[in-house]
Amino acid sequence: MAENTEKRTDVNELGEFGLIEHLTKRFPIKNKSTIKGIGDDAAVIDSGKMMTVVSTDMLVEGIHFDLMYTPLKHLGYKSVIVNLSDIYAMNAMPKQVTMSLAFSNRFSVEALEELYQGVEAACAQYDVDLVGGDTTSSPRGLIISVTAIGEAEKDKIVYRNTAKVGDLMCVTGDLGAAYLGLQILEREKQIYLSNPGVQPDLEEQSYLVRRQLKPEARREMIKEFSKAELVPTSMIDISDGLASEIFHLCKESGVGAFVEESGVPIHPDAEMMAIKFQMDPITCALSGGEDYELLFTIAPEDIEKVKFLPGIYIMGEIVEASEGIKLHTKGGNIHPIKAQGWNHFKGNE
Ligand code: ADP
Ligand code: MG
Repeated sequence: MAENTEKRTDVNELGEFGLIEHLTKRFPIKNKSTIKGIGDDAAVIDSGKMMTVVSTDMLVEGIHFDLMYTPLKHLGYKSVIVNLSDIYAMNAMPKQVTMSLAFSNRFSVEALEELYQGVEAACAQYDVDLVGGDTTSSPRGLIISVTAIGEAEKDKIVYRNTAKVGDLMCVTGDLGAAYLGLQILEREKQIYLSNPGVQPDLEEQSYLVRRQLKPEARREMIKEFSKAELVPTSMIDISDGLASEIFHLCKESGVGAFVEESGVPIHPDAEMMAIKFQMDPITCALSGGEDYELLFTIAPEDIEKVKFLPGIYIMGEIVEASEGIKLHTKGGNIHPIKAQGWNHFKGNE
């Protein structure tokens, strides 16, 4: 190999989003049908009467999942769900998925069948068709890449860069549970490794563990929006933690946000487990990941349309960018929210 005298930059210097920006900046859009390229939960393509939305996510063994405590069936289910969530975040309905796999000879036909039972369950549950993919080998471990394709009427697509000052900020479901589920599984793994005779007792924490291993995507919310004739002014799904998603939405929209801690929904099981782990529940909600809830904004006059929808919480307001992104705590203090999402590069040295 020729000696490489060129400068070597570590990807951590740019961070995930800096890197994507750096690599993709020389790709101007050439086709009129490309309505939205890089930078949202999904790309948007004009397909005539409707808009087509496309999103891809990759799950890597050892980074995104640990097969010591992740049943393959749940993994197959989750790999579809994380992609459907990005399609719902555009206010669109997913219709098809493709599934690409790379695996080492450690995986048997039976193991892959189990993975596909989960894929099948997700496709059945969310009414999507598996229409293709790719299969190849890897020197070690399992890598799963799923692409989801969805559709929406042209005037119904919701982006993350269109929040306006004065809009109300809303969130669905509850936050932080998947992160705490992961902490429980990691703790059980350590106990097992030091004493393989001990059987894990996960029954009592079934809600938190389920939120981590078998998450759901918020299809019913998109249906509720449609029934209520509500089109949010902006939307993003919460995959990397609430704080990180608030930052993306605000940065892309050129606005700030004022969030009430008391408005951030946290499940009682998550609250109790956070305290048991000596963590602040709000920190788990802000910085934990993998909730797959929806963060969205609405015009203030639309408040009547969401006020009585179950599972939606109004937790803040969009303000001028110069006012920053702040949390009003239950204790009455106001402090800036830090964008501490998951950075997969960090744990991967
Ligand atoms: P999400 O968290 O919603 O799945 P990501 O943070 O993964 O979205 O990606 C942000 C945007 O960058 C998306 O539009 C995605 O398609 C795009 N993107 C991510 N990685 C790459 C890449 N390697 N090349 C081109 N575009 C990318
Ligand atoms: Mg997303």
